[in-house]
Formats: sequence, structure tokens, C-alpha cells
Amino acid sequence: MTDWITEWLQQNKAEIDRLADTIFTHPETAGEETQSAAALENFLQKNGFSVSKNTAGLPTAFTAEKGKGEPRIAFLAEYDALPNLGQNPVAHCDPVPGNGHGCGHNLLGAGIAAAACALAYALEQENLPGQVVVYGCPEEEICRGKIVMANAHCFDRDDAAISWHPADKNQVSEEVFQAMTSRVFRFYGKSAHAAASPEMGRSALDAAELTNVAVNYLREHVPTDVRMHYVYTHAGDKPNIVPNYAELWYYIRAASRKTMLDADRRVILAAEGAAHATETRMETEELTRSPETLLNRTLMEAMHRQLEICGAPRFTQQDKDFAAAIQKELGLPGPALEETLRPLGGSPRYVPGSTDVSAVSWRTPTVTLNTVCQARGIPGHHWSVTACSGAELGRTGMSKAAQIMACFGRELCLQSELLRKARDEFEQARCQE
Ligand SMILES: [Zn+2]
Ligand SMILES: [Zn+2]
Repeated sequence: MTDWITEWLQQNKAEIDRLADTIFTHPETAGEETQSAAALENFLQKNGFSVSKNTAGLPTAFTAEKGKGEPRIAFLAEYDALPNLGQNPVAHCDPVPGNGHGCGHNLLGAGIAAAACALAYALEQENLPGQVVVYGCPEEEICRGKIVMANAHCFDRDDAAISWHPADKNQVSEEVFQAMTSRVFRFYGKSAHAAASPEMGRSALDAAELTNVAVNYLREHVPTDVRMHYVYTHAGDKPNIVPNYAELWYYIRAASRKTMLDADRRVILAAEGAAHATETRMETEELTRSPETLLNRTLMEAMHRQLEICGAPRFTQQDKDFAAAIQKELGLPGPALEETLRPLGGSPRYVPGSTDVSAVSWRTPTVTLNTVCQARGIPGHHWSVTACSGAELGRTGMSKAAQIMACFGRELCLQSELLRKARDEFEQARCQE
């Protein structure tokens, strides 16, 4: 029986929606999520969780725990927003200056908290053993929070970790996100008057540019899954001063760590060569490094069964009209909302992009759910995602995700055999590395 879960979610729906809205209306970017973390902590505390802050030394991370005995089920909450994606929750482009939840992490955080509370409540009511732990994971959008937390051994005691992400489809994710290194290059040259005494100068900007030229030539000679992108974060001050300082920020990605590490090595060689050619000095700093996602088929299949039992989110005509209006704005074909469940395909799907959830997936068996919270086919990190994440349709998808995750968590607490199988699969996959 999963009635306790449904009952708790129904009784607390208004409060859960308010939590998602509070985070939506206080969008905070990576590392700045003070109010969002506090809102989640308060919600969990009110529901009997004991909360400790500053997890792994991250000021906007937290750990919230409830329950006793085995197993220990982890839920991964994210709540960071994106810069310049502020938008009112309406079906046309209506920007609000500043940050916005263009990845739907307001729903993500609130949905996770709701699932954890519903599960803990059900365990309590049914007198079942099990610890429910919510990790407040900041800085997902710079692929960092969970990596720092994993390196601090946060997830090592957990029997399984559950994550979810708002999407335009209902599925248990079979997606393998890319391994990634985030790296900064700093070049130090010598300034001089760029017209009167250029021969005295050594341009740090030249070194940065040469690095990028070399990397752009490198593109032809790396495996096709490799992605190398950069921005200039410092490129000089005035045209008549030879820049004595320049800075590049790189993301280097590939489908596997091995390929990514080799590409990373070659990008560093390019920067070294550029510094040599320009008589400048180069320093590089690795900001984060994430592995590719390790899938766990045992957990995926078990979660898929719960997805089938709970079904897809049920949208109102108003939700459908909202999504259709957004599609029209973007010139996308209907249907506006996907209302079916995607089957498990049985093989991994390699996707571009990276997530720090991958770091957790190598520490404990991890599984990710997607539910429809957005109009079909809209681009990620876009005003339309912000719009849907503040609208009723987003909250409808979130409620369904909370139900599926809580029911799945209960299943894990009841079936020790399932967790043992998931652990065996996990250990075997790690050994192969
Ligand atoms: Zn994102
Ligand atoms: Zn996201």
C-alpha cells in the first residue's frame, strides 16, 4: 500500500507548491542559493528532518535526515538558477531582469523535498525501518556542488540515490551525460604602449588567442564525441595597452573520462605552446572534473515499474493551452504536452552536456527520473523553461515526480534484495573501470 504517500502529498500540496514558488521568485545562481536553501531546510525541518548546514564546506549545501535503521535512501535536491533568464510565468517572452529558473531547479528542489517527506511519513506510519536523507546540492549549473560533496565522501554510506529533473518527457533516464573538466587558463605578459613601444610588450591576449586557434585545429583530430568550448573571461583593458593579462575558461567534454582526459591534456599542450610562442607565462587551474554517468539498470527497471503504476502527470486544458501558446511562440509543432510514458529502451543514450549527478553515480547506485513539466520540444536554459517552471503545469509535473520517487523509495525500503542486486551491479561496473 502506498496510500500514506498519496495522502501526505495531497494534504501538503499547497505548501509544496508554495515552496517551489518561493524558490522561483528568489532565483539565485550557483553558490548564491542562500534563500533557496533556507526555504528547503525550513520545509524539511518542519516535517521532522534534522538539518545540518554547510555540507562539505559549501555554504549553500545542507544535509537533512529522518528515520532510523536500514536502508539509507538519498535524495538529491538542486535549487540554483541561471543568470539573465528571469521571466514571468506567462506563455510569451516576458523577461524579468536578472536570474531565472531556466532549468526548472525550483521544481527540482521542491519535488525532492516533497518526495523525501512523503516517504519518511509513510515509513513512520507503517513502522518500517529506513533513513531518508536529502542532500541540498548547490552549484549544479557550474557542475560543481555534488563533485565537492562526493569528494568529501557524502554519499558513501547511502544505499541508493534518487534524483529527478523536470523535462518534456516522462521517463526513467537512460541518459549518460558526458565527462567534463572545467578549466581556467591565465596568461601573464608585459604591458607596453601598443603604438609607441609594442616591441617592449608581450601580449597575454595573443597567447589566449593562439591557444584557441590551436584548439580549433585540434577539433579535427579528436573523437567526434569530444566537445571543447571556451569564453574569454579577461581580454585586456584598452586597445593602446598591450594586455599583460588574459584569461580563458574552458569546458572539455567527452562520452568517457578516458577520452575527456586525453582531450584535456591536449588543450593544455595548446596553451603551453601558445605561451611559449608569445613569451608569456601560463597558469592553469582545474575548477571541477566530473565523470560520465554510471547507470544502474536494476534501479532503472524498478523505478520504471513505479512510473507505470503511478502514471503520467494529468494536465488540465489550461495547462495544455499554456504549453500550446509557448510552442506557437517558438514555431514548434504540437502536441503541446507529452502525456505518455516512454519505455525503457534497454541501452544507454549518450547525450551532450554534463551533470554533477554523475559524480554521485560512481559513489552509490543512482537513478534519475524525468516527468513532463514543460511544453514539448522547447530548448533548455531558455525563457520558456522559466515560464513553465513558474506555471501550474510545472507544479503538476513536480507533484507526479514526488509521488513516483516516494513510492520508489518505499519499494527500496521493503525489498532489500533489490538494493543488494543494485549494489552488485554497481560494484561490478566500478571494477571494470
Ligand atoms: Zn541546467
Ligand atoms: Zn538542470
